[in-house]
Amino acid sequence: MKLYDDFLETVREISVLRSISGLLHWDQETFLPPGGVASRAEQLHRLSGLIHRKATSQALRKKLEALSEKKHWGRLSPTQKANVREIRRGVERAAKIPASLVRETVKTTALAQHEWAKARQADDYKRFAPWLEKVLHLKRQTADCLGFNNRYDALLDGFEPEMRILKLRPLFVRLKSALVPLFQKTCEAHKGRPKTEWPGTFPVAAQKKLNEKLLEVIGFDRNRGRLDVTTHPFCMGMPSDVRLTTRYDEKNPLDAFYSTLHEAGHGLYEQGFAEEHFHTPMGEAVSMGIHESQSRLWENMVGRSRPFLKYFLGVFRDFFPGPFGNLSADDLFRRVNRVEPRLIRVESDEISYNLHILLRFEIEQSLLDGDLPVGEAPAVWNAKIKEMLGLTPPNNRLGILQDVHWATGAIGYFPTYTLGNLYAAEWRLQIRKALPDLDTAVARGDFRGLLEWLKANIHSKGMLYTAPELCQKITGHPLAETPFIAYLREKYEKESA
Ligand code: ZN
Repeated sequence: MKLYDDFLETVREISVLRSISGLLHWDQETFLPPGGVASRAEQLHRLSGLIHRKATSQALRKKLEALSEKKHWGRLSPTQKANVREIRRGVERAAKIPASLVRETVKTTALAQHEWAKARQADDYKRFAPWLEKVLHLKRQTADCLGFNNRYDALLDGFEPEMRILKLRPLFVRLKSALVPLFQKTCEAHKGRPKTEWPGTFPVAAQKKLNEKLLEVIGFDRNRGRLDVTTHPFCMGMPSDVRLTTRYDEKNPLDAFYSTLHEAGHGLYEQGFAEEHFHTPMGEAVSMGIHESQSRLWENMVGRSRPFLKYFLGVFRDFFPGPFGNLSADDLFRRVNRVEPRLIRVESDEISYNLHILLRFEIEQSLLDGDLPVGEAPAVWNAKIKEMLGLTPPNNRLGILQDVHWATGAIGYFPTYTLGNLYAAEWRLQIRKALPDLDTAVARGDFRGLLEWLKANIHSKGMLYTAPELCQKITGHPLAETPFIAYLREKYEKESA
């Protein structure tokens, strides 16, 4: 159909321009010399203006309207319908927010991030507070323009389409009531275990080779991607070419190893999209939660499992025979799965990580609703941390100032991390049914079966289904917290017994 072909041509053009912008960002984080910063900012600014004009053009909206008419809609295939549905979702969302509010938000969040970094460094919450206030004010306006029943839903929908607070709240309440006692019990059992400190230093050059080996073994196609170094690791799919980044700590080789594995989980998803659908929603991730389900499945459920560690202990020994020579697979398993209260979210174990998220979820709702004044947020943060983890942050740097998200305007983003864990556990259950010999294969360093399952059931589907539909399709039920709880219990209760 000519109308659809024209529509898709515009969609592809916008997506290609976005991937160019992504590449410029990647370069900025990895190789850009300091003197190139100003011209890069100009390039990105011009390009984003061009993308914005194309993505909100009358021409595109007219095509969408026409395709949504009964006579055309009925003739579209499921794949074509998914492309129209998802582009329409984005265009309608963008059209509701006035350009002046978008500009104001871009400007304010750029300054807020700068102020957050300074405030965090100086442990000065008062410096950040007025900026958080400004961001919240803009986000309330944005939410009101989007016109949902609930402001939080309006923002959440931008990261996790179709997820609503009415579904999320009870899910998280059930999760919390199961996690808190499990966490306390496991902490008690893990007390006195050796800390994950390693003797000696681990040269970056050798660690780089180890991480390349990791990518090769799990099936990341290095002919269509690469691994570089940044302060904050990320994954960027363009999409035939996937850029991963990691960071190296000479004292702990597992730091980079697990951060590479996490990003590679995102990267394998991007590499698994069907080539014919590149640069259309059918060749894109369903949601942030589903994206995170891929990274967390690889990082934790696979990467911290006994069979995985059994295989990789041999690899670690090849690279660093001294420190790993006398370590048993059992020791390694205990070290990488140590559960203990930690103030920093990104350093937490896989149980308490979610408690960190639930705390942020509760606080950001109250901040957005205005129930919690910005000035009182640190006290509430500290009280909740004390209640959940039994720790009191000695300062705000290790408390409310630790994450950049709110400064960037990403309010409603945090839940997608825990949703990722919950989805990953749902997939894990189905994978174990479909591949009963997976553990044996993984212990041999054979990840083909796992990757094929993920590709067939999730990656290659792109945005054909929404996240709730995908879960229903794969598991036969809506997303639940029970598989995740069962996974944690099986792992930590059995191992502590
Ligand atoms: Zn991630």
